[in-house]
Amino acid sequence: MNEVPTFVTHLECSLTGERYEADRVHNLSRAGKPLLVRYDLEALGRAVDKETLARRAPEFWRYREFLPIRRSENVVRLGEVMTPLIDLPRIAGRLSAREILVKDEGRLPTGSFKARGLALAVSMAKELGITRMAMPTNGNAGAALAAYCSRAGIETFVFCPDDTPPINVSEIALQGAETWLANGLIDDCGRVVGGGVEQMGWFDTSTLKEPYRIEGKKTMGLELAEQLGWQLPDVIFYPTGGGTGLIGMWKAFDELAAIGWIGDERPRMVAVQAAGCAPIVRAFEAGEEFAERWEGATTYAAGIRVPAAVGDFLILRAVRDSDGFAIAVDDTAIAEALAEMARVEGLLLCPEGAATYAAYKQALADGRVAPDERAVLFNCATGLKYPLPEAGRRLDLGRPVNYAALGAA
Ligand SMILES: *Cc1c(COP(=O)(O)O)cnc(C)c1O
Repeated sequence: MNEVPTFVTHLECSLTGERYEADRVHNLSRAGKPLLVRYDLEALGRAVDKETLARRAPEFWRYREFLPIRRSENVVRLGEVMTPLIDLPRIAGRLSAREILVKDEGRLPTGSFKARGLALAVSMAKELGITRMAMPTNGNAGAALAAYCSRAGIETFVFCPDDTPPINVSEIALQGAETWLANGLIDDCGRVVGGGVEQMGWFDTSTLKEPYRIEGKKTMGLELAEQLGWQLPDVIFYPTGGGTGLIGMWKAFDELAAIGWIGDERPRMVAVQAAGCAPIVRAFEAGEEFAERWEGATTYAAGIRVPAAVGDFLILRAVRDSDGFAIAVDDTAIAEALAEMARVEGLLLCPEGAATYAAYKQALADGRVAPDERAVLFNCATGLKYPLPEAGRRLDLGRPVNYAALGAA
């Protein structure tokens, strides 16, 4: 029985619009494209209002009417906090920018925003009776999958490229997944998962090959709007791998507009990629609807090392419809941005988050973003999950401490 009203009517192919029944196990549509969850938005709009929402616990489950889970007993929880919007007064001052905000997703369970998507995917898997899930991952998605599945009593198999950050591999394994390192990229690992579905009885949880991660990532857009008093920022910089979050936020804004909580205004959506793996940027610049696979992908920002995205056309549509753009930054700029943010604002970003700051500066310099635009940068994971540079100088306690020399680096 529903304990809270839910409003899912059906699922829909994101390319052809073909309808699929709700409450069934689905992967991609017959056209091989992601499925989007559709709601009775009129009924949803009547069932909840902003004031009711404001009184609920500060977690992303507060948006439950906008989510597909029918029975509360299936909600799998690890403490899904609302993430803070942190302003950057010093950096904004240096750049003469009006306002720059970082949405710090590193505070979520498992230390990344993958928790939003996987909390939804795993809760829905529980609701639909799925008992074995498999996934290719660059790290954070696998960690979130493993954690939520262990919590839900679902078995997991996770395949990582062999240069996945070691901390991710360890957390995935510790959180209960069968964990494999493969000598290939994430889409190579994806083929291993696809190939084992039948024999292993796996549910393929690859990015956008299951319909509910987008709904989880959608909560970023709902949360952002609520935190800003139902006003959207002028521009959003999003580190884009599979693009789930960008697609999800765009969907959130449409749903909010449909129920009249916001108007027609939309933020400009900026897809940020690494110069060593920028298929979306290349397609954006060439005016293409779909993106070609990026050969020889390299970047130390592992979360955006995604050579081919199933939702490429959805990312490109949102970017273009919003009057945004796609931009690439190189690893040196990413590392410098990371170091600057940590030193100046005391905020340790992940490399992918640092890429958004590097891209913001680049766009400000070349005029694609104006200093009076209110900007939101997404930091998608805690910086503590990545290898950090060696630091600290030796202090020999066998000698008297020379205090005057301590500050002279
Ligand atoms: C997954 C991931 C991304 C990319 O997110 P998408 O929504 O799949 O594009 C960016 N940064 C980090 C840290 C990630 O884990």
